[in-house]
Amino acid sequence: MLSGRVIVIGGGIGGLSMALALQRRGIAVSVYERARELREIGAGIIMQPNGRKGLVDLGVDEAVAEVSCAMTMLHACHWSTGEVLSAVPNTAIAERYGLPSLAVHRADLHSVLLAAVRANDASAVHAAHEFVALSQDSEGVTVRFANGATERGEIVIGADGNGSAVRSFVFPGEPARFNGQVAFRAVLPIELVPDMVRERELAMHRGPQRYLLHYPLRRGTLMNLIGCGTTEDWEAEGWSIPATNGQFLAAYGDFAPHLCDLIRAVPDGELFKWGLYDRAPLERWTRGRVAMLGDAAHPMTPFLGQGAAMAVEDAVVLARALERADTVADAFAAYEAARVERGNNVARWSLEEGRALQDPTIPNKGAAGYGLLDYDPVAVPL
Ligand SMILES: Cc1cc2nc3c(=O)[nH]c(=O)nc-3n(C[C@H](O)[C@H](O)[C@H](O)COP(=O)(O)OP(=O)(O)OC[C@H]3O[C@@H](n4cnc5c(N)ncnc54)[C@H](O)[C@@H]3O)c2cc1C
Repeated sequence: MLSGRVIVIGGGIGGLSMALALQRRGIAVSVYERARELREIGAGIIMQPNGRKGLVDLGVDEAVAEVSCAMTMLHACHWSTGEVLSAVPNTAIAERYGLPSLAVHRADLHSVLLAAVRANDASAVHAAHEFVALSQDSEGVTVRFANGATERGEIVIGADGNGSAVRSFVFPGEPARFNGQVAFRAVLPIELVPDMVRERELAMHRGPQRYLLHYPLRRGTLMNLIGCGTTEDWEAEGWSIPATNGQFLAAYGDFAPHLCDLIRAVPDGELFKWGLYDRAPLERWTRGRVAMLGDAAHPMTPFLGQGAAMAVEDAVVLARALERADTVADAFAAYEAARVERGNNVARWSLEEGRALQDPTIPNKGAAGYGLLDYDPVAVPL
């Protein structure tokens, strides 16, 4: 249906997934990323079966699995005693949903996607292009970048994350807002990790107003640690605000002794904190020839481990819709019909799960409990 080029704004996990999904359907695409260098920071991401089905469609699931960690057991433990409260074998997830869950370093997932996009078209991705404005007419969309460049495409897809400039431009409204939660995060070499933490692989500890989660990355050579809690203080948005072990311990020192040892083991310079932001849900993710996906469309808190998976699902469904519809309007209508309710629900449920993760007196559901893992973006009707 498309005769021209698709412009994707943002070269994160959602933008690169979109580019790959289009390339694999024979549609020409260019990606414009604000950063000067295409590399990712951040820590671990859990990729559950629904997201992995999207990666299978993108042809990268095997490559991602090779650099990931498929944990054997997913534990829930008491926050202050460390006692194991429940353990779900990852094989049970695979039996029920077709694939096990993986833990992957965000940078590794990003590199696999970037290499696949560049293997299809070495010049598809343009760094140092910060989107600032667009104008559209009946034939296409012209985008303008902060470096003075302009580009024209048949459609534009905003995959520029939580603080999306495309969203602010097309749907002016409220900016992203701090939602009262601050997370500490670190990635440690496995040699520094206390034995009990290493043996338990993935373990969630739900405590009062805070939770602590750890899981291994990169074939078990790294351990990802995240502590997230509610705070009265405003925190700057960002993924890499340096933090100290002392600050982390001051907030989590009443957790089980092996968890405090884990916090103490984080090397200097490897501990960061980040304030969580979100935006009010939108009923429309497209306007004219512009569509949004991933965090730009539905900013996702990390509590259900679905941020990256939702961006991958959006990308696969939108590419399928563009491949089969006769007009852009039909494709975007099919995309919204298939995705808006799910994306907005998952964003809302993730906030709900966040509250349960910080209150051990109420049950939490996890992504499986919300029925999210059955979804297959390749099979969903359009
Ligand atoms: C730095 C970072 C670290 C993260 N770490 C984790 C983590 O450890 N664990 C976890 O679960 N989730 C993490 N996330 C969130 C998770 O990766 C996202 O929920 C998910 O991948 C959705 O991806 P996305 O592509 O929609 O957005 P993002 O991953 O935010 O990607 C958006 C991309 O757009 C680019 N961009 C932004 N504005 C512009 C502009 N005006 N013009 C051009 N490009 C622009 C950004 O530089 C970025 O590359 C992280 C996100 C970021 C940005």
